[in-house]
Amino acid sequence: MTLSRLAIEEAARIDWDVIVLGAGPAGALGARRLAMAGARVLLVEKKEFPRRKVCGACLNADALGVLASEGLGTLVDDQGGVVIREFHLGLGGRSVRLPLPAGRALSRARFDLALVEEAIRSGVDFLPETLASVDADAGLAGGRAVRLDQRGAAATAWAKVVVVAAGIGHHALERDPAIGMRVAPGSRIGAGCTIDDFPADYGSGAIHMAVGRQGYVGLVRLEDGRLNVGAAFDRALVRRMGEPGRAAARVLEEAGFPRIAGLDAAEWQGTPGLTRRARPVAGRRLILIGDAAGYVEPFTGQGMACALASAQAAAPIILRGLDSWSAALERAWSTQHDALLGRRYWLCLALAAALRRPIIARSLFACAAWTPTVSRMMIHHVNKPHIFVETSASCP
Ligand SMILES: Cc1cc2nc3c(=O)[nH]c(=O)nc-3n(C[C@H](O)[C@H](O)[C@H](O)COP(=O)(O)OP(=O)(O)OC[C@H]3O[C@@H](n4cnc5c(N)ncnc54)[C@H](O)[C@@H]3O)c2cc1C
Repeated sequence: MTLSRLAIEEAARIDWDVIVLGAGPAGALGARRLAMAGARVLLVEKKEFPRRKVCGACLNADALGVLASEGLGTLVDDQGGVVIREFHLGLGGRSVRLPLPAGRALSRARFDLALVEEAIRSGVDFLPETLASVDADAGLAGGRAVRLDQRGAAATAWAKVVVVAAGIGHHALERDPAIGMRVAPGSRIGAGCTIDDFPADYGSGAIHMAVGRQGYVGLVRLEDGRLNVGAAFDRALVRRMGEPGRAAARVLEEAGFPRIAGLDAAEWQGTPGLTRRARPVAGRRLILIGDAAGYVEPFTGQGMACALASAQAAAPIILRGLDSWSAALERAWSTQHDALLGRRYWLCLALAAALRRPIIARSLFACAAWTPTVSRMMIHHVNKPHIFVETSASCP
């Protein structure tokens, strides 16, 4: 499928209903949903597609449920997603295997491309390799301006509503002082790579999670047999070890997981501080969804489920705002966002904090190993569907 034929000058001449910034799961699913409801949507992505992304690459049962509710129930399997049924947790030289509600492992390059293709099929215009940023709010009735930068050329496009789905660490809102981003002090940083050669112990169908004193490393076999590595480290560990490959090797060793020879030589990507929150999550004719609105360390693997669910939940508010925008819509999204994701945000935060304290981490591990009911309850909670059901209360 051809991904784009639109030039930025052309994009600047069109009256868009919605411009979505960022073509990750939140942006692509949100753009698709809005286009299916009849909106004229431009999806702007700074990178060339398909692209790699630091991630554990596991879609949990919750994420698969949101996709199914959008009529995309076969998308992941069509792309060769590997069935995941087990969480293999290692800490301090001991390990436990816990059953999981069936999830899937799929490389982010494949998954995100497939979602973008679905969005294009539904009528979305896609503009890759274009950096987008929201202009300061000039208060002009009826729209917001987005600056588009593509290979040295720049243009300004307008939309009735702008959706920021640009993930963590984006700079798309630097010119809008109304939205602030708070990164948690001491937040861990993310890193990821893929490995071709590794011990057979890292079998297919399981998430292998090694927990060390200063971070954790998640490993999973992908659709093409390679091993996906997604990790969260204390900055101090990466500084001390000199590079993420050595930091990952240290965490595997502490957990008692088999050594992977190629970690040092792998092509690693990194992220800025992971735990962060935007406030507010809406502004005039502006809505933040997915990680752009807030994110906590990835241990529970809920990021994509939350991103997809937030795109689903924001759509009715955005569509309502096309006719006339009001501060009530901004409040509605803040309330809805907190109701949908707030409890999970605090749970992830509590778990991330607990994992940093060796005594608590060891107690949690013992609990998971010896009282399967407790671990089953935790896993059930993390995978609980958060499919958005539209009600009259969803919109003011
Ligand atoms: C180490 C690690 C492991 C993880 N493991 C898992 C896991 O196993 N399962 C899970 O569900 N989640 C996991 N996550 C979380 C998951 O990766 C994210 O929650 C998810 O990708 C969020 O989707 P999103 O669409 O909000 O943002 P993203 O997927 O980050 O997409 C944002 C997009 O916006 C683009 N962009 C940024 N700035 C601009 C701009 N100015 N203009 C245009 N485009 C822009 C980016 O290039 C990117 O393509 C993990 C995260 C990390 C860091």
